[in-house]
Amino acid sequence: MVREAVPEAARVATRIGIFGGTFDPIHCAHVEVAEAVRQALGLDRMLLVVANEPWQKQGRPVTPAEDRYAMVAAAAEGRPGLEPCRMEIDRGGPSYTIDTVEQLRRLEPQAVLILVVGSDVVAELPTWKDEPALRDLVTLAVVGRPGAPRVAPPPGWHGVDVSVAPFDVSSTELRRRIEAGEPLAGLVPDPVIHCIVQRGLYATGR
Ligand code: ATP
Repeated sequence: MVREAVPEAARVATRIGIFGGTFDPIHCAHVEVAEAVRQALGLDRMLLVVANEPWQKQGRPVTPAEDRYAMVAAAAEGRPGLEPCRMEIDRGGPSYTIDTVEQLRRLEPQAVLILVVGSDVVAELPTWKDEPALRDLVTLAVVGRPGAPRVAPPPGWHGVDVSVAPFDVSSTELRRRIEAGEPLAGLVPDPVIHCIVQRGLYATGR
């Protein structure tokens, strides 16, 4: 059998979104951001990368990574294109985005990698491990976050602006709500609420 050559037009690079977070817990704004950026930039895949040890969140206890991963997997259920990603958990230790990006680059050498961050994270980027190497490997997509000023990518970053409807929710506020016994409906996807209750997370099993 003679194999037909792949037409040149079909050789378009895979576009992969990398949306990392502690996701403690994942909430509706995370899902909105992931879906909106995926559609706006025509991404083939959007990875929800669960941090193993989020070095930026030192000073407070963090829910075990496997529980956070289970919540992210529940949020991605039935949403083709959103992929829970456990690369950082499987690597172990502190989670640095450069390590994840280099690993993805080895797995998908031709892919265009788009790093998605909320505007509150932009000011911290220069403190990230190997920032010069990281900014050479990815395109940055910054999404607005209520309460955080609209910001341009720091010098040296190649960025794209994506407009996402603001959704004022944070994991911190949700942990407070759970502690206070306030409802999560509308702020956390229903399958994630189910996962929280089933696993007795955030002392819901008390
Ligand atoms: P915490 O309140 O515990 O700090 P968080 O809600 O900021 O958590 P993270 O898991 O730290 O959630 O965030 C992962 C990514 O999602 C970050 O890039 C963050 O800027 C972005 N993000 C979180 N909430 C929103 C939101 N409401 N709108 C836009 N981006 C958001």
